[in-house]
Amino acid sequence: MSRKPTLLIVEDEEAIQKGLTDLFVFNGYDVVACGDGEEGLQRALKDAWDCIILDVMLPKIDGFTVCREIRKHSREQAIVMLTAKNSEDDVINGLSLGADDYIAKPFSVRELLLRIEAILRRSGRDRSQSELDLGGFTIDLENLNAELMGDTIQFTRREVDVLLFLKHHESRPVSRRELLNEVWGYNKRTEFDTRTVDIHIAKLRKKIESDPKNPSRLVTIRGEGYKLFSPSSQ
Ligand code: CA
Repeated sequence: MSRKPTLLIVEDEEAIQKGLTDLFVFNGYDVVACGDGEEGLQRALKDAWDCIILDVMLPKIDGFTVCREIRKHSREQAIVMLTAKNSEDDVINGLSLGADDYIAKPFSVRELLLRIEAILRRSGRDRSQSELDLGGFTIDLENLNAELMGDTIQFTRREVDVLLFLKHHESRPVSRRELLNEVWGYNKRTEFDTRTVDIHIAKLRKKIESDPKNPSRLVTIRGEGYKLFSPSSQ
C-alpha cells in the first residue's frame, strides 16, 4: 500500500488518545485525534477515513449519536466503538446503531491493532457482484438497499458482507468463528471474545425476517452455526 491508511480517533481521555495516536502513527497510519463528539462528527463527515475509532462517553455529543449521524451519511464507513467494560448495553447499542465492531475498555493494544488491521484488509475486497438475490427480495450492493413489502431497508456494508458470505456457502451452516475469520478478517492470531457476530445476526433478522424471533431465512443450526435459506437456491 503506497498511501498510509487514515484513522480518526475520537476519545476524550488524554492518556488513551495520546497512546492510541502514538501506537498507530508508529505502525504507519495517518492519524487525526479529536477530544469531543462534536469535533469528531465534523471530522468524520468532512473526510473519508479507512477507519474511525469512537469512544462512547464523550463531551458535547456522545459516541452513539456520532455513530448514528455518520451512518446517515455513509454505510460504508468502518467504525469501531470503544465501550465500557462489562457494559452489554453499550455493545448492543453501538452495534445496533451501525458500528462494525466494538472493543471493551480496558483493551489490549495488540488486540486493537490487530482488529484495525483486519478491518482495513477487508475493505479492499472484491466488489464485482452488483446485487444479491435472497429469494423474495434483492439487495442492491452498490447502494446497500433492498425493497421489501413496500419498504426500503438499509444495510451497512458489514451486514451485506455477512449475507454474501452465507449466500456463497448456502449448502451448509457457517460457524460464528468462520464468519469472524472471513467477514471480519479475524484470523487465527486473533482469538478474541466478541459478540459482534451474534448481534449482527440479530440486526439482520430484524431487517429481513417477518418474525425475527422465529427466523425462516437466517436460521441457527444448533451447535453448528448459521444457515441462509433463500427460495431461489432450493
Ligand atoms: Ca470517554
